[in-house]
Amino acid sequence: MNHPSPEQPADVVARLRATFRTGRTKPVAWRTDQLRRLRALLTERGDDLAAALHADLGKGRTEAYRTEIDFTVREIDHTLEHLTGWLRPDPAPVPAHLGADATAWTQYDPLGVVLVIAPWNYPVQLLLAPVVGALAAGNAVVAKPSELAPATSAALAALIPAYLDTDAVAVVEGGVPETTALLAERFDHVFYTGNGTVGRIVMRAAAEHLAPVTLELGGKSPVFVDRDTDLGVVADRLARGKFLNAGQTCVAPDYVLTDPETAGRLETALVQAVQSLFGADPSASPEYGRIINERHFDRLESLLGSGRVAVGGTGDRATRYLAPTVLADVDPDSPVMREEIFGPILPIVTVAGADEAIGFINDRDKPLALYVFSESEETRTRIAAETSSGGLGYGLPLAHLTVSDLPFGGVGESGMGSYHGRYSIETFSHRKAVLAKPLH
Ligand code: NAD
Repeated sequence: MNHPSPEQPADVVARLRATFRTGRTKPVAWRTDQLRRLRALLTERGDDLAAALHADLGKGRTEAYRTEIDFTVREIDHTLEHLTGWLRPDPAPVPAHLGADATAWTQYDPLGVVLVIAPWNYPVQLLLAPVVGALAAGNAVVAKPSELAPATSAALAALIPAYLDTDAVAVVEGGVPETTALLAERFDHVFYTGNGTVGRIVMRAAAEHLAPVTLELGGKSPVFVDRDTDLGVVADRLARGKFLNAGQTCVAPDYVLTDPETAGRLETALVQAVQSLFGADPSASPEYGRIINERHFDRLESLLGSGRVAVGGTGDRATRYLAPTVLADVDPDSPVMREEIFGPILPIVTVAGADEAIGFINDRDKPLALYVFSESEETRTRIAAETSSGGLGYGLPLAHLTVSDLPFGGVGESGMGSYHGRYSIETFSHRKAVLAKPLH
C-alpha cells in the first residue's frame, strides 16, 4: 500500500495509531521481521543510498558504507542478536510484608507512535538507527528525514515503504512547515537529532502532549593533548576524526587544548597527517566530502580568519569544497571558538596544562564528547572526574559511538537521553512495574 503526499500529518498519525492499537507491532516476530526487512533495504539498495549521500554531501562510497549503511546494518544485527534477552522481564525482590508468594518484575511496554526527526549530516544513519530502536521496542514510527539532504531524503522516502510495513512506518518529507505540522500531533515519544535551537522548539511542542523527548544535540567537543604523547599517532587520529565527512560530525573534535610547547609540534604533525591522508590536493581525494550547502560554506569560510592557517584555508564555493584546515594561535574569544564549527576547521588553543584545560571546558557548555590524549593515568581519570560530557574518548575520537553496548547521547546543552543497542529499548519503551499476588 502506498500513501502519497496528500495525506496530512494528522491522518498519518491516526493511521499508525490505529495499527498500534490492533497490537500488530507488539509481537517480537513482527519486530524482528521489520528489522530484517530494513536490513535487506540497506544491503540490497545500499548503492542507491551511497549515490544519494554522494549527491548531498560528496561522501565517498567507502565512507558512506562505513559510517552510514554498514553502521546501521551492525546496529540491526546487534539488536536481532540480543532483543529477546533485552526484553526479558527483570525480577525484583519483594518485601516481606507482601508474603512469600508475591512476585514482582519490570517489563518493557512499547510506547505507541513515535516521531524520529533526523539531521542532514549522517542522513541515513541518524534517521534509521533510531528507527531500529523504535521498531525493536514494538512501536509504530513516523520518520522525518532532513530536507537539507534532499537526495537521501527522497531515496529513503521511496525505499522505506517498499520494504517496511506501511501501516506502521511512515516517512514524511519536508522542512520547517512540515515538521511544525507533525509536532502539533500527539506522539508517544519524540526523538530529535540536530541543534539546540530547534531542540527547544521540539521540546516545547512535545510538552503540549506531555510527550517524552530524546534530544541528540551537538556543541563544541574539546580535545586535550597532554605533553609527552606520541604526536604522530595523536595527529593521525585527530585528523581522521576531524575531517571525516568534512568535519560535519556531531562528535567531531571541535578544537584542541594543549600547552604552548606541544602546540607547535602538534601543528607540524597535523600538517603531515592531513597531507598523508588526503594528499597535496584534498579536493582530488575521492574520500574527502563537501560542505552541505552554500550557507554553511559561507559560515565556515568566515571562521578562517580566527587564527594562523597551518594547513588548508582554501575553498571553492561553487563545489562547496573547503580544505582540511588547521588554525594555530587561536584566541579563545575568536569567532571560531564561539559556536560549534561543524566543518573541516581545527583550531589549536593553548592552555598551561590539564588544570587550565579542565577550567576551560567547565566554563563552557557540556560537550557531546570529550577526547583526552595523555599517557598519564592520573590526568585521564582527573579529567573524567572533573568534567561532564555526553561521552569520553581516551586516545581515539568518534569511536565510542560505534560500540553498540554503550549509550550514545549528550548532557546539558548537548542533549538528553540516549540510544543504541539496549539503550534504544530503554528510550522507546515504558518500563512497567508489575506486582503479582496469588488469590489463594
Ligand atoms: P537540520 O537543519 O537538518 O535540522 C534537523 C531537523 O530539524 C531536520 O529534520 C529539520 O527539518 C528540522 N527542523 C529544522 N528547523 C526546524 C524548526 N524550526 N521546527 C521544527 N523542525 C525543524 O540539522 P542541523 O540542526 O543543522 O544539524 C546539525 C546539528 O545537529 C549540529 O549541532 C550537530 O552537532 C547536531 N547533531 C547531533 C547529533 C547527535 O547524535 N547528538 C548527530 C548529528 C548532528
